[in-house]
Parts: sequence; structure tokens; C-alpha cells
Amino acid sequence: MLFRAPLEQYLETGFGQFVIDQPGLGGGLTTYGDGRWALFLTGDDTERDEDTLREMVLRAIGRRDIDVEVITTGRWEVTASIAERYSEGRVFLAGDAAHTLPPNRGGYSANTGIEDAHNLAWKLAAVLAGDSAPALLATYEAERRPIAWLCHDQIFAHNDGLRRREQGGPTVAAPLPPSAAMPDISETSASRARAPLY
Ligand SMILES: Cc1cc2nc3c(=O)[nH]c(=O)nc-3n(C[C@H](O)[C@H](O)[C@H](O)COP(=O)(O)OP(=O)(O)OC[C@H]3O[C@@H](n4cnc5c(N)ncnc54)[C@H](O)[C@@H]3O)c2cc1C
Repeated sequence: MLFRAPLEQYLETGFGQFVIDQPGLGGGLTTYGDGRWALFLTGDDTERDEDTLREMVLRAIGRRDIDVEVITTGRWEVTASIAERYSEGRVFLAGDAAHTLPPNRGGYSANTGIEDAHNLAWKLAAVLAGDSAPALLATYEAERRPIAWLCHDQIFAHNDGLRRREQGGPTVAAPLPPSAAMPDISETSASRARAPLY
């Protein structure tokens, strides 16, 4: 839910993202820094009227003395998927078209997409200018797809609040388990990281 509210005072300490972990109300609160805020509810697909949405914001913040203007609502699914191929003929995939990576576990997705575009752009320019053979374009997938997989594996190795919630454990500040209890990603991510980069 996107809303407008005068909550700047909570940014003074330097924090910009807040975890909401109340009975029956779990999610996150973050801001665009211009008076607009977003309240993310996890695992929730309920349609609500504006009064109910406003009430949820007030409850999340723990105050009733502020004006909340609901701007809009939307839904998104925490998913991860990576295209089997990044190109076919004259068509190249970049960004979320090539990979979707959940934002809540490291914020890799846009960054990975921007790197895709940078990688692809100079190669297309070189080939179109006749400075390089078209075979250069084959290196795009070879270089970028393993990076998407590396990010994917790192994201799902995070033992963050959502993962603990999925596992039925505590959702706030708990010590990380000893490394032996963490998922073994050494084979997948390390071997993918060793994949040849041209
Ligand atoms: C809640 C949330 C939080 C996120 N937080 C982070 C974060 O902290 N860090 C991070 O790195 N990433 C984050 N992401 C991911 C990031 O937003 C995406 O990875 C990024 O926006 C993808 O950019 P893109 O240009 O590849 O695709 P998009 O942003 O989806 O852009 C695709 C564009 O193509 C347009 N389009 C679609 N079909 C057509 C068509 N047929 N013709 C013309 N145009 C079309 C769409 O309207 C859209 O404008 C977050 C995502 C979400 C949902």
C-alpha cells in the first residue's frame, strides 16, 4: 500500500526501512523520502476499503494522531526465476525479463538488470559499428546468466526474517545458526561462480 503521511521524524536516525512484526500484522514499511511511504504486508491478498487500509497504517506505526492519505495499492509475489536462454536470434532479454529475484533478500534485482544492460549495450554498439564480430553477442548470456544464478543462490542462503517465518521460527533478531545449519550452497553457487567469464 502506497500512502502519504508526515513521518519524517522517524528518518532522523538514518533508518529508512522498518519491520512490522505485530500479532496479525506482519510486513515492512519503507519510504520514497518525499512523504510517500509503502506498507508491505506479507502473505496477504485481501481486498480492503480505504478506511481499513488507513487503520492498518496507524496500527503499524503505533500512532493515531497523523493524517494518512492512501494513494494506491498493489500486489507482487516473491518469486525467483531465471530464463533458460537470454537470447534467441535478434531478441535479447535483460533485467526482470531475464531474471526475477526477490527484493527482500538483498535488493539484487534492479542492480543485476542494470549490469545486464551495460554488458549488452556496449556489445551491441560494437557489433553494429562493425568493430566486432557478431559472435561477441554470445558472450552476453555466458557472462550474465551465471551472475543471475549467483545472486539467486545468495538470496536464498540469507537467513532473514521471511525465511524464519516460513520455517515457523522467530521473525525478529535471532542469532544466525552455526554455519553447519545453513543451507549448503557451496556446490551450486561456487561452481557457477567458477563458470568461465569471457
Ligand atoms: C516491492 C519491490 C521492491 C524492490 N526493491 C528492490 C531493491 O531494493 N533493489 C533492487 O535492486 N531491486 C528491487 N526490486 C526489483 C526492481 O524493481 C526490478 O528488478 C526492476 O524494476 C526491473 O527493471 P526492468 O527495467 O528490468 O523491468 P520493469 O521495471 O518491470 O520495466 C519493464 C517496463 O516495460 C514495460 N512493458 C511491459 N510490457 C511492455 C510492452 N509490451 N510494450 C512496451 N512496454 C512494456 C512495463 O510497463 C515497464 O515499464 C524491487 C521490486 C519490487 C516489486
